[in-house]
Amino acid sequence: MGHKVLVVDQRKCTGCRQCELVCSVYHTGASNPSRSRVKVVKWESVGIYLPMTCNHCEVAYCVEVCPTKACHREPEKDNRVVINKNLCIGCRTCIVACPFGQPFFDHQERVTVKCDYCDGDPQCATFCHVKAISYVDADQANMAKKKEAAHKLADLLKQARG
Ligand code: SF4
Ligand code: SF4
Ligand code: SF4
Ligand code: SF4
Repeated sequence: MGHKVLVVDQRKCTGCRQCELVCSVYHTGASNPSRSRVKVVKWESVGIYLPMTCNHCEVAYCVEVCPTKACHREPEKDNRVVINKNLCIGCRTCIVACPFGQPFFDHQERVTVKCDYCDGDPQCATFCHVKAISYVDADQANMAKKKEAAHKLADLLKQARG
């Protein structure tokens, strides 16, 4: 069996932000959406919610630019892209390099953090009441659609940033 991936179906998202809460609780021990690694963005002009998570990209710019190799891929663990906080110097180059609005600088810990699939038990997918986020086998997921959605989102973000 292939590795698993996090898939977002924006059409199902109700904007409840439960995913933000559970992500922050899992990683920080406190309910604090500002420290969540998934961000639910409301697209005012079209009235939709976008749950934005890391895509664990096959070509990951965050990994390519990291000067200390803190940001790296773990092929044996669902091919996930993670940050080793012990190696992170907080330079934020990975944040600038990512086209998808990830990772995030944690002002309390003074390091950069990102989605790590909750070490194989994604809390956002478990607790999303409408399954707008799911953790599925990559072979079963429609990767073409995922790629298309990711590019569309990158274009929207580019437009929004001007
Ligand atoms: S928990 Fe699910 S429905 Fe609620 S905001 Fe997150 S992705 Fe959307
Ligand atoms: S942080 Fe950005 S570039 Fe890196 S794997 Fe995630 S989405 Fe891709
Ligand atoms: S902030 Fe940390 S993980 Fe990101 S590029 Fe710098 S050292 Fe690497
Ligand atoms: S998989 Fe875990 S770390 Fe990634 S966004 Fe979901 S809850 Fe946060």
